[in-house]
Amino acid sequence: MALYEKYPLTVFNSLNRQKELFTPLVADRVGLYVCGPTVYNEAHLGNVRTFLTFDILYRYLTYLGYKVRYVRNITDVGHLVSDADEGEDKIEKRARLEKIEPMEIVQKYTNGFHAVTKLFNLIDPNIEPTATGHIIEQIEMVERIIANGYGYEVNGSVYFDVKKFLEKYDYGKLSGRKVDELLEQTRESLEGGSDKRYFADFAIWKAAAENTIMKWNSPWGKGVPGWHLECSVMSTKYLGETFDIHGGGMDLKFPHHECEIAQSIGADGKDPVRYWMHGNMLTVNGTKMSKSLGNSFLPLELITGEHPLLDQGYSAMTVRFFFLQAHYRSTVDFSNDALKAAEKGYKKLMNSLKAVKSLDLDFAKQKGESDGDVDRMIVELFENLSDDLNTAKALAVLFEMSALINGLSNQQVHPNTLSIDSFKKLASTFSDVIENVLGLQDDASGSTNKLNDVMNLLIELRAKARADRDWSTSDKIRDDLQSAGITLKDNKEGTSYIIEN
Ligand code: AMP
Ligand code: ZN
Repeated sequence: MALYEKYPLTVFNSLNRQKELFTPLVADRVGLYVCGPTVYNEAHLGNVRTFLTFDILYRYLTYLGYKVRYVRNITDVGHLVSDADEGEDKIEKRARLEKIEPMEIVQKYTNGFHAVTKLFNLIDPNIEPTATGHIIEQIEMVERIIANGYGYEVNGSVYFDVKKFLEKYDYGKLSGRKVDELLEQTRESLEGGSDKRYFADFAIWKAAAENTIMKWNSPWGKGVPGWHLECSVMSTKYLGETFDIHGGGMDLKFPHHECEIAQSIGADGKDPVRYWMHGNMLTVNGTKMSKSLGNSFLPLELITGEHPLLDQGYSAMTVRFFFLQAHYRSTVDFSNDALKAAEKGYKKLMNSLKAVKSLDLDFAKQKGESDGDVDRMIVELFENLSDDLNTAKALAVLFEMSALINGLSNQQVHPNTLSIDSFKKLASTFSDVIENVLGLQDDASGSTNKLNDVMNLLIELRAKARADRDWSTSDKIRDDLQSAGITLKDNKEGTSYIIEN
């Protein structure tokens, strides 16, 4: 029996606003699409939280025995500064500021994003498609929408006809927004003489201004695809016209995901997604973390501790643990104290992980009196994970397991209270869930630890050379490390190092 049959997964489906039993379209296979980053700047920790949520989902689906095709795109064109139909393309704007090609911006921040995903141990998607790589398919989708009567062209731009769509379908069913409420919010922006027929219409293709660098020929002239269109095109291209799960941050529900639904129905008559899942926001003092509000943390600032709101650095794994302590649908507020507590918890768990791997005791050959406890904890662990990925409750069970492991390790619990089979089950479940489902690694072990020892030695030698005014040696250590991609940073507490990815 597959694990997914033993511990059936329920997920909160934003579409119906309730937890539902997850059943894939095709037995034992899952199609998962997650909106990826817009690569115009460095990913901040809020972005990391959302990608981590879906990393856990991907890992758990795989662990349960599903064959998952996981698609996470890169938005490299079409996302405008307003997050709607107004303003410049975010990437073009950045390119102008940095005085480089838009595609250099795309490459630079895609590389940066990949470094961040490695740092936080996020598994790579199976397909990572880009918007610029799917222009033809996007033009074709616009053509289908027009052919079905749901799109119209004005001055080289094509808009989705929401009024027409409303005659037959629901626009707002995902976000719960009513079109009349939208009117309140958008009336102003239409007064400047918009090309749209109806205030709720949205661009699926935008005519490009003369000085735009990124633009493509289309039946409507030179232009760029609308932001929402790329996700409709790439998700259905790789996962089918209707697929299992679509994920993203809560802030993408409207307009982005609402528009995706309308576009797919408008083009192909099919509701694209069976389960919509949305992760909640990372906040700072209750306000959403965002680059534009100036309250964002970059991963490197977190690790070095060089940020006005931090009084020390934290490892990427501490942050991973920190996020897992909350349910993905709750907001998480970022603070020093919360991170300090997470660091303690994470280290405690890692110590038990080390202990369980090295325990070599005389466990009972036959049934032991604590065997029942082990069975109960294992069931509870998976029931929590299968309950809409309740990682917070799963961690509580892991700590209960860790108490038993520590008891065995410090000999407060006699080994023959457990049968050898039960111990093996406990050890493998404990390690598997921590390492493979929650994706936590011991950041103070193995090669990392050795490298740390070597680095501390070099830092010590350099400090000694400097004390001896032996500048040529101290400079050589710093410069040679620099050319190997390791930067030394001198600060009040001493010297730290940063490894470039
Ligand atoms: P972007 O690169 O801005 O398109 O965002 C990438 C992903 O990060 C999207 O799924 C957003 O919903 C998500 N996101 C943005 N800000 C936050 C935040 N403060 N907390 C959690 N997720 C966020
Ligand atoms: Zn998207």
